[in-house]
Amino acid sequence: MSPERLTSAAMQRVSGMNRRHFLRTSFACTLASFVPAALLATQQDEPFQLDPLPYSFDALEPHIDARTMQLHFEKHHGGYVRKLNAALRSAPPELRSMEVEELCRQIKAMPVTLQPALRKFAGGHANHRLFWSILSPDPKTTPQGPLAEALDRSFGSLDAFKRSFKDAALSRFGSGFVWLTAKPDGSLAISSTPNQQNTLMLDPVAVPLLVIDVWEHAYYLKYQNRRADYVDAFWNVMDWAAVESRFADAFQA
Ligand code: MN
Repeated sequence: MSPERLTSAAMQRVSGMNRRHFLRTSFACTLASFVPAALLATQQDEPFQLDPLPYSFDALEPHIDARTMQLHFEKHHGGYVRKLNAALRSAPPELRSMEVEELCRQIKAMPVTLQPALRKFAGGHANHRLFWSILSPDPKTTPQGPLAEALDRSFGSLDAFKRSFKDAALSRFGSGFVWLTAKPDGSLAISSTPNQQNTLMLDPVAVPLLVIDVWEHAYYLKYQNRRADYVDAFWNVMDWAAVESRFADAFQA
């Protein structure tokens, strides 16, 4: 083999390595630009993460369909987490170590220029975290104990509460959330928030116990315009055990 050919072969090896390195690097760059928002949001160096659901996307069928769950979790909730992290990059560093519920509770004390983003994305993250946590494929279907007594005291009966809650869900014009909250005196109330606002932004001392997402993205694939049917179906996967536990935590000494 001539020195020229040797050199040429060596050059090819080097050039091949560089090419592989280049391909790996550019593949990684290309991949990064197509990684779903949900995955980007789980990057370790970000203050907020999209925690995995405690059940599979199809676990709440037929009441909430798998396609809706996947899109809702990965695209919508994932997007709120990603945009919350992005908004906090230019914020005072202490905000990056706060719980998302605290960002909501203290919204009026936040930098004025940051408040619109926090109303959307801190709210969006907190609202969806609570929503997923009170849903279950194997829910407790009736409340008991102190929570059941508080529902009776505040609304007259469980059925009366459900009727008022449904009315609030149907009368929320456009997108938003409807909540059951506990007040400091132990009484319960229904509240309703527009867009991605969290009920703590309206009332910082109320404790959110349960929430329903009434954005069309939460139900349109299966129920189309029939929000009432979606609200009825919600009770089949709403876990009263999770709500009892939140109520107990709120009033522990
Ligand atoms: Mn939603």
